[in-house]
Amino acid sequence: MSPDDRVYAYSAVLLGSPILLKLFDHNQTLAARVFRLIKQQEILLTVNRPHSEVMSINHAAGESPVVVSQPVFELIARARAASVLPGSLFNFTIGPLVKRWKIGFQGNSVPPLAEIQALLALTNPHHVILNDRDRSVFLQKSGMEIDLGAIAKGYIADLVRDFLRQEGVEDALINLGGNVQTLGGAADSESGSWGIGLKKPFAGPDELIGVINVRGKSVVTSGVYERYFELAGKRYHHILDPRSGYPLDNELLSVTVISADSIEGDIYTTLLYGMGVEKGLAYLAARPEIEAIFVTRDGQVISSSARQFTFTLLDEDFHQA
Ligand code: ADP
Ligand code: MG
Ligand code: MG
Repeated sequence: MSPDDRVYAYSAVLLGSPILLKLFDHNQTLAARVFRLIKQQEILLTVNRPHSEVMSINHAAGESPVVVSQPVFELIARARAASVLPGSLFNFTIGPLVKRWKIGFQGNSVPPLAEIQALLALTNPHHVILNDRDRSVFLQKSGMEIDLGAIAKGYIADLVRDFLRQEGVEDALINLGGNVQTLGGAADSESGSWGIGLKKPFAGPDELIGVINVRGKSVVTSGVYERYFELAGKRYHHILDPRSGYPLDNELLSVTVISADSIEGDIYTTLLYGMGVEKGLAYLAARPEIEAIFVTRDGQVISSSARQFTFTLLDEDFHQA
């Protein structure tokens, strides 16, 4: 039996993505419980179906506060805090623009400038009023919509890790599509760590720039190649710049964050994406617990300090700066 034979992979389609769970046990029941947990969370958080706690908040925008469950309230508080950081390009009230652009969904188009400007007036995170006495959330202006799309996967990946740990699992990997969270390392591999592929942008699904090895860490990648559409030779991807209302446009193809918690990874990928390489590296210098790998349009792979991971470059089109 080769070492890899002892890894059991379970898959499902949830959160609009293929989901992969790796365990060192043949435990179908445990895998089913993990997928059920993910499904339950999706039902609370999604904006892609008519009913969820988040949708109730959005429906009541400009009218009344909505009382939500404790975890959803905490997640919203977290998203708000990240959105009001000075200079933050993370903005969880970006919903009206996300809906209008429909990037990655059917019917996407480039909205007229006047429409973008009108929608920008509905994306001020300070207009979300949280009341922790009754756990209510109020969107002050009619038409406002919160969108937890950028952090829901990270939050859920951390819940899955906590659940597996409680169940006594020591080594596992959950991949929610862009968000990977791990427990321990791949017990049977020579390195004793999990190898996570860094995708080659705009290439085949199995083509990699390189491999990131970690133990018990989260690896989150946000890239311009994940969801986009093309029109008149221009590419429009799914991370929007809350200042302009257009997709963020800079030298980056992707940002990967390596951290303990996947929710941090989610927040920082968006923040760092907006900062670009130079500002991003300076920002991380004061935050040793968060590490990142930037991939630029001109083929450079630039990493911050690398205490929590190792990176192996595999593709000749890219070089490590
Ligand atoms: P996914 O993992 O689903 O690709 P990402 O973590 O890459 O999602 O975040 C992109 C999603 O976040 C978008 O699809 C949208 O729902 C939302 N979003 C877009 N722009 C921003 C922004 N500036 N701040 C916060 N969320 C955003
Ligand atoms: Mg994400
Ligand atoms: Mg992503």
